[in-house]
Amino acid sequence: MNMEEQKKKKILCVGLVCLDIINVVDKYPEEDTDSRCLSQRWQRGGNASNSCTVLSLLGAPCAFMGSVSAGPVADLSFRIVLSEPLCLSLLHQSGDSLLNLPDATADDFSKVDLQQFKWIHWEGRNAEEQVKMIQQVVKYNSTLPQQQRITVSVEIEKTREPLYQLFSHGDVVFVSKDVARHFGFLSAEDALRGFYSRVKQGAVLICAWAEKGADALGPDGVLVHSDAFPPESLVDTLGAGDTFNSAVIFTLSNGGSLQDALTFGCRVAGAKCGFHGYDGIAAKFTND
Ligand code: ADP
Repeated sequence: MNMEEQKKKKILCVGLVCLDIINVVDKYPEEDTDSRCLSQRWQRGGNASNSCTVLSLLGAPCAFMGSVSAGPVADLSFRIVLSEPLCLSLLHQSGDSLLNLPDATADDFSKVDLQQFKWIHWEGRNAEEQVKMIQQVVKYNSTLPQQQRITVSVEIEKTREPLYQLFSHGDVVFVSKDVARHFGFLSAEDALRGFYSRVKQGAVLICAWAEKGADALGPDGVLVHSDAFPPESLVDTLGAGDTFNSAVIFTLSNGGSLQDALTFGCRVAGAKCGFHGYDGIAAKFTND
């Protein structure tokens, strides 16, 4: 198989799909009071699902793996966002899901035909099972020459102890500002330097920091940075992180440099903050 054939393979995202019910309100609601929503929209959400949305809008062949219920409303999460200041703030998201669908297991994953994929991304959730899935990929990779191997990326977004075992299992590891702050780091650079000893040899660690842009650190110890690309007006930052991750994966999986990946990640994520949802991405960032 040549490089071109490998490039045409798909990116698989493993994680959550849910229905986000987004309530726009003008001030943070007090407990046990009613307040009127300025608007409400229902939007497919879940990090892995959002990442697939963005990847496909960028023109990358991709696939999603996660639990989807048979019902019309698969899985619910509530988000309340403020209309003022214009920046829509995510104030509350109910746990993971109301219906608590089981996450995909290593057993489910063993049925996946890995040959279709060049990259698999895990949204950190049921980490112990996810480590077993990654081990299946490592085993599969060990039979193949370097250029045909699947790249493994993981996202550690939530501050939950079991997720931290994922640090040592990704070729590319995304760690959130939330997790960084939880550990007392005050900047992306501090977080990367502080966490780098947890990743496996040769891995790249990436940390996005909202309007400060994003930083990355690879095995050469050189810090790579991109500034943010703020939109003219900030409309909707929900899913900015998922958008950033997807645009980074998109670039790296096409052979781009770490600097190119961070810059593209910040450009697409910044643009996304300028409109609701994701639909505006295709018009701005795809050539065809
Ligand atoms: P979130 O947690 O809001 O999903 P992150 O902090 O993970 O977002 O940010 C991901 C990327 O999105 C950042 O690297 C940045 O490029 C972009 N981004 C997020 N918020 C803003 C903002 N307020 N202005 C400009 N860019 C932003």
